[in-house]
Amino acid sequence: MSVPAKETQRHPARPEPRPGVMAISAYVPGKSHAPGVEKVFKLSSNETPLGPSPAAIAAYQAAGANLQDYPDGSASVLREAIGKAMGIDPERIICGAGSDELLGLIAHTYIGPGDEAVFSTHGFLVYKIATLASGGTPVAVPDTDDLVADVDALIAAVTPRTRVLFLANPNNPTGTYLPFDEVRRLHAALPPHVLLVLDAAYSEYVRRNDYETGLELALSAENVIMCRTFSKIHGLAALRIGWAVSSAAVIDALNRVRGPFNMNAPAIAAGAAAIADAGHVDQAVAHNDRWLPWLAGELTALGLKVTPSVGNFVLIHFPTSPGRTAAEADAFLTRRGIILRQVRAYGLPNSLRMTIGTEEANRLVVAALSDFLAGAER
Ligand SMILES: *Cc1c(COP(=O)(O)O)cnc(C)c1O
Repeated sequence: MSVPAKETQRHPARPEPRPGVMAISAYVPGKSHAPGVEKVFKLSSNETPLGPSPAAIAAYQAAGANLQDYPDGSASVLREAIGKAMGIDPERIICGAGSDELLGLIAHTYIGPGDEAVFSTHGFLVYKIATLASGGTPVAVPDTDDLVADVDALIAAVTPRTRVLFLANPNNPTGTYLPFDEVRRLHAALPPHVLLVLDAAYSEYVRRNDYETGLELALSAENVIMCRTFSKIHGLAALRIGWAVSSAAVIDALNRVRGPFNMNAPAIAAGAAAIADAGHVDQAVAHNDRWLPWLAGELTALGLKVTPSVGNFVLIHFPTSPGRTAAEADAFLTRRGIILRQVRAYGLPNSLRMTIGTEEANRLVVAALSDFLAGAER
C-alpha cells in the first residue's frame, strides 16, 4: 500500500517537538565552581549551610544495602512520616522527585494546548517551563514595585482559558511573601475549575504571624495544591524529594500521570528520617533568624538596596554605573570563591541573589562587597 503523497508532505524532515517545547529557555542552575579558587562558598542555590539531619544521612546509607529492589511505588513510608509530622492523612499526599517534578506533573495533568497558566513575572522559572512543556500558554503578571506578587493583577489575568495559577509564597528569587489574607482573597476570586498552586518551598523559614503555608486551604478547598520540598531547609537537594497536599480528586489525577517509581528508595528513607527530626529544622531556622537580619543590615549599610526577605536568601540590588553593576559584582565575588546567583533570567539584571550561608561565608560576602564598592581590583 502506498501512502498518498499529500500525507507524506505534511511531515517534517526530522522529529519535531510539540509546539511550545522549543520556546523553553532551559533552566540554568546556580554556578558551583570558581576557577582557580581553593575554597568555594556556594551561595547560589538556596541550599542550607547546616546540611541534612544526621538521621537522614544514616537512613540514606542503610538504603544502600538493597539497591537491587524496586522502591515502594507509593512512597508510603515517606507519606506516612510527612502525614504524622503535619497532622494530615497520607492519602492526601503525593511525593515527587523534587517539587520540580510535582510542578511538571501538575502542568501535564491540568494544562494542554490552548490553556493558560498564570504566574508573576518574578516567579519561579519552572512554572513557565512546565507550562510550555505541556503545550500551554504562560501568562506572566508584573509584580508590584516592591517585588511582591500583585493579587489584583493576578486576578485580572485570569481568563476563560486559565487552568492553573502558580504562586510561590514566599517567592524565589525576591524573598517576598503574601500575607495569608491576600492568598485567601486570590483564591476566593478564582473560578472553581482553576487550580491554585501554592509553592511553599521556603515556608519553614518564615517568621511572620500573618503567613500561612496553605496547608489547610489545600485540605479544605477542591482547587488548591500546596507543594513543599526537602531541598531547602531539610538539606536534601541531592536526593530530589518534594511533596504536595491537595483534594482527593487532584491527588488521584496526579497519581495516574506520575511515573510508577518516581521516588527512589534512599530518598524515601532519608526524607522520612529528615521530617521526623524537628530539632534539626529548628536549628536551621535559628541560624537563618540570626544571619538574615544581620546580612540585610550590613548590605544596606554598604549602600546596597536589599529587598526584605522572609526566606533563606536575599535579593541584592546594584547600581547600573560601570564598575558597580551586578554582573561585575558577581565576577568580583567569584574571584574570591564566593558564588551568588545572577537573576537576569528572572527579569532582574541589576540584582544578585545570595543564600544565607555559614557565618564565615556571610562575613566574607560583606567584606568582599565592601571592597568591590570601594573600587578594589580583586
Ligand atoms: C528550590 C525551589 C523549589 C524546590 O525545588 P526541588 O525540585 O524540590 O528541589 C520549588 N519552588 C521554589 C520556588 C524553589 O525556589
